[in-house]
Amino acid sequence: MYISLTDLFKIGIGPSSSHTVGPMRAARRFLVELSEADRSKISRVRVELFGSLAHTGHGHATDVALQLGMAGELPDFVATEKIPDMIAAIARETKLLLLGERAIKFQPLTDIRFNLKDLLPLHSNAMTFRAYADEAMQTLVAERTMYSIGGGFVVDEDEAFVGSPRGGEAQVPHPFDSMKTLLAIAQDKQLSLAALLRANEHALRGDAATTEFLERVIDTFFRCIDRGLSTRGTLPGGLNVSRRAPDILVQLKTERGQRGIAPHKVLDWVSVYAIAVNEENAAGGRVVTAPTNGAAGVVPAVLRYAQDFCEIDRDGLHDFLLVASAVGALCKLNASISGAEVGCQGEVGSAAAMAAAGLAAALGASNEQIENAAEIALEHHLGMTCDPIGGLVQIPCIERNAMGAVKAISATSLAMRGDGTHRISLDQAIDTMRRTGADMQAKYKETSQGGLALAQVEC
Ligand code: SF4
Repeated sequence: MYISLTDLFKIGIGPSSSHTVGPMRAARRFLVELSEADRSKISRVRVELFGSLAHTGHGHATDVALQLGMAGELPDFVATEKIPDMIAAIARETKLLLLGERAIKFQPLTDIRFNLKDLLPLHSNAMTFRAYADEAMQTLVAERTMYSIGGGFVVDEDEAFVGSPRGGEAQVPHPFDSMKTLLAIAQDKQLSLAALLRANEHALRGDAATTEFLERVIDTFFRCIDRGLSTRGTLPGGLNVSRRAPDILVQLKTERGQRGIAPHKVLDWVSVYAIAVNEENAAGGRVVTAPTNGAAGVVPAVLRYAQDFCEIDRDGLHDFLLVASAVGALCKLNASISGAEVGCQGEVGSAAAMAAAGLAAALGASNEQIENAAEIALEHHLGMTCDPIGGLVQIPCIERNAMGAVKAISATSLAMRGDGTHRISLDQAIDTMRRTGADMQAKYKETSQGGLALAQVEC
């Protein structure tokens, strides 16, 4: 399977790609893929959530996402400002407009069931949809189980065996399944990684559509940063976490140009960009999976840093994203980008590796230095657990993205001090992430039952 730029960077809504974007797509897909005859029979729909979706689904707005998906909404197009009213109307009227066409009875509190006891065997993020022909739910029309496998990717039971959605067999001129292969092809063709990856993406959808997509992603990233930098208030969910980005921005602007400002304070700009994105994500705003929503702040923060502080032009930003997406694809293909599967090393760790490689490419690093940058960034996130307090993508997630972005920049800088020669390869680091994730106890994988999630916080 070739995981392309558009697979990896999905424009969607917060707070979670696996718990919000994935379930929304799954709910819509369940209904869309029924025959018209079956769909016309439906009077009720029930959803059962398992594993991490059941344990942290409330905090991650999985219930909201499911209702939106059943109403026919898509994460990349839903008007985020209208969501609260839509959800309130469903609860008030106990009616849901199936795919936006026909009202059926729906009671969110009982028709979405959080099964905290059972786990389905194929993946922790499982959901079973059942559609009934009668309001008493005696006559089953259809039943289907789907899995949200991270980064907004959704698979059904058949697809879960091969680990990818059907239709992913796209043909590209330079297929690769490891960084070793990618570097060898680039060496053979005498191409930079960005040029090679651009050729692949152009083969999939043409030059103009690829450029248009890259521009749309950059635009969504930067709009998200700007919204986060200018929005005050308290994040939803009950932890009473205040949005910090606007106040930090005021401080940074005040200090700008002053004498005696410590050089390291440039890193506060990087942090505030990441914090702005993740505060937007926690508030259910428009974000891009990079590679997930929980880790959505790292790549845009470093990309904005590249533009604002390294004077990287638009072509350079495109190179950044092309190379970052390949690193993210390798993390997904050979390990996981799901906190529920391998912990936060798969989310913020993968994001940091992507950002480090992207920045190195934009700064003109050699292919070997790019690989080294990604490896350093990932290596120093290995073992990181997923332990969000209250199941909300807020503590430690928001600051964790800031730290991931700062580490990514340091990794790039360090890699570019050398010639790319190093001892542990990116492929080895990714494989280590996979094995470490497999060894990690379930309570550290997005269940909010271990680690920092057990800390008492004053609300
Ligand atoms: S701790 Fe990391 S993996 Fe877990 S929800 Fe937060 S950002 Fe995602």
